[in-house]
Amino acid sequence: MQIITEIESLRLAALSELDKNETLEQLESWRIRYLGKKSELTTILRSLAKLDLEDRKEVGAKANQFKSILESGLAEKKKLLEEAAIISSTEEGSLDVTLPGNVMTTGRLHPTTQVIESICSIFQNMGFQVVEGPEVEWDSYNFDALNIPKDHPARDMFDTFWVDNNETNEKARLLRTHTSPVQIRVMEKEQPPIRVIVPGRTYRYEATDATHESMFYQIEGLAVDKNITLADLKGTLFEFCRLLFGEQRNVRFRCDYFPFVEPGVEVAIECLACHGSGCRLCGYSGWLEILGAGMVHPNVLKRVNIDPEIYSGFAFGLGVERIPILQKGIEDIRLFYSNDLRFLKQF
Ligand SMILES: [Zn+2]
Repeated sequence: MQIITEIESLRLAALSELDKNETLEQLESWRIRYLGKKSELTTILRSLAKLDLEDRKEVGAKANQFKSILESGLAEKKKLLEEAAIISSTEEGSLDVTLPGNVMTTGRLHPTTQVIESICSIFQNMGFQVVEGPEVEWDSYNFDALNIPKDHPARDMFDTFWVDNNETNEKARLLRTHTSPVQIRVMEKEQPPIRVIVPGRTYRYEATDATHESMFYQIEGLAVDKNITLADLKGTLFEFCRLLFGEQRNVRFRCDYFPFVEPGVEVAIECLACHGSGCRLCGYSGWLEILGAGMVHPNVLKRVNIDPEIYSGFAFGLGVERIPILQKGIEDIRLFYSNDLRFLKQF
């Protein structure tokens, strides 16, 4: 049939011309020529009505197949030309892929939180459980229950913010000066064996300077059981110091005084900067004090109805910020809580 041959040659011409289009404008005129309202294809499709039924079927199928081949060829070519257009515009400099991109800023844990997490995980691996307590505390929990009665001179070391006016009342509330009252709260509720580690904020009424801040973090530890001795305390704290400061670090253990322990000890590590030979960081002593500890005073146990004839325990406490201050040589404790990103981003 004449018309089938026409479609066939039209197809060959259209496809060979399609390849020659080099711009989107050329492609558009190609589309009008072969697929537009006035194209030969449209004319053929319109003329179908004049054919008899059999021929109409055959020619119609052929023409529609031709049309869809041209349409998919057009779409493919258009995509290629558009991609090429983007690349060439880049070459002309409208998009410089060598320029630095926009930095996606991500948050991170505060240096204090990082230290708390690593200290807690060391003690958790030794079987201690992490507990927390209130920051607004009763006078009796903060002082009396810890063997610091009203007239005790140790109270002078703990000047704090009072929530209630009447300082002489046992029921007066204050911002806790140490995490130790949580020891009392735990021992009131639970019977030995007890092994807890208590991280949290503490407060002192201080004139702030490079080494004093009115709010800081402490971590407190407590173990109460039968047959707990000073050797258990020493073993636990030596292991802790080696895990936090390195296997080879020398640790010093010597007497100190705290009202809620008897005997009391102080733990120091070999200076991180000079390894014991003496420098400005360690005050030329070669040692850095990092925590206070001792055996829980029998008066403290009696007060929470734990019999000191049967049970004994040890407790320790350390200032959290002191660890990164010593490790990283930070010169001002106030940097921790002044929310300066230039400082915080370094951790
Ligand atoms: Zn030193």
